[in-house]
Amino acid sequence: MESNYIRLNLCEKVNNKVIYHYEVSDSLKHFFNLNEEAFIEYTFELTNIPDSIIAIPFVCNVLPIIWLTNSTLEVHTLDKNFLSHVDEIKQGYMQMYPSLCFQGNIKTMPESNYVPESKINAGCFFSGGVDAYTTLYRHVDEAPALLTIWGADIDISDTNGWQIIDSFNKKVAEQLSLTYFPIKSSFRRLLNFGEQGVSLLLENTPYEYWHDFQHGIAIISHGAPIAYAYGMEKVYIASSFSEQQKGTYVCASDPTIDNYVYFGNTQTIHDGYELTRQDKIAYLVNYPYSTEKPNVHVCWISSGGKNCCQCEKCYRTILEIVSEGGNPNEFGFIWNDASIKKCKRKHMIEMLLPQYRITSYYYPIMNRMKENNIKDIDKYEWLFRINWDKFNDYPCKKMYHCIISLLKSIKRGLKKFIYSK
Ligand SMILES: [Zn+2]
Repeated sequence: MESNYIRLNLCEKVNNKVIYHYEVSDSLKHFFNLNEEAFIEYTFELTNIPDSIIAIPFVCNVLPIIWLTNSTLEVHTLDKNFLSHVDEIKQGYMQMYPSLCFQGNIKTMPESNYVPESKINAGCFFSGGVDAYTTLYRHVDEAPALLTIWGADIDISDTNGWQIIDSFNKKVAEQLSLTYFPIKSSFRRLLNFGEQGVSLLLENTPYEYWHDFQHGIAIISHGAPIAYAYGMEKVYIASSFSEQQKGTYVCASDPTIDNYVYFGNTQTIHDGYELTRQDKIAYLVNYPYSTEKPNVHVCWISSGGKNCCQCEKCYRTILEIVSEGGNPNEFGFIWNDASIKKCKRKHMIEMLLPQYRITSYYYPIMNRMKENNIKDIDKYEWLFRINWDKFNDYPCKKMYHCIISLLKSIKRGLKKFIYSK
């Protein structure tokens, strides 16, 4: 029987672009979109970057599949420092998902890469959110370059969306006199996320492949060629969860995994894990800015770096800023008395929240409002009157969601009726 394998045959470098030519055993074909070109485009010439470094993004993108399917990854050559920590990365996954089996191996020739000089000290993955801004300002004295991947949150076909993010990042970099490295990558398109794809690996588990297994090391590894070319000692990736939440979440990006990703002379640092989200907001509100305050992008609904100012994530962030004595209007939101009323109505009538979010985010918001004795606290006294234990059980909410689902099924029925004519 043919054993499972993923074989990287060639890293074809054409100016600023690398195209990964690879093949996989028949047994693994359904996990991949093999017609998609596997490429990454940087903003600098790649010819002098060794294959053992440039292979890292491809390798990290498929490592979880190798482990979960007990396969062999065949690569001509891989960076020795990266390779010597792969087992620790795997250990991180094993601790995070103790019910799953992580096996497989890598067949390769290790190569040592010593980066001769440092032109830029550090890199910092940047999305424009609360976590990314906190990490950026915490390390701004190290003048970290900003790294953003087009193809992660924004699809590579979404040129307009990317242009907005790209010019926003350029502006942030310019204001802080930092270098900015946009990276265009098809990495999120290579795997089949359909029913017959990678989700099969997680059948009968509550896990989701992209968030829980892929995105952390896949994103970090895109920094390898940049770190090598510019001699970076560190690459920072901002934490999205905090130490306080340990054991209550699963996520592919975690200090137990990210901190073991090394390449050449570069170490990855999962930054800010000791801080809660509320701590990060307090840090951003109180930071002594020499330029204008950051427009944080947190929204789950709006694209292109804007905040809708009326989804749960926007509201939550706004309330966090208010609770630290900040003015949301200075951080990329629109906030006035009318918005407070709307926010109250949504919380009282429409919004449903998982318990962990109430405990991790809403309780700290109220505590900080009191501790900071914020002005206008009267406008938020409705928050203190909510019965958070029964937040999702309010009769008006049940009624609201009943009506919404009824309207949706009527709409579906009407559509069916019209199209059947
Ligand atoms: Zn929003």
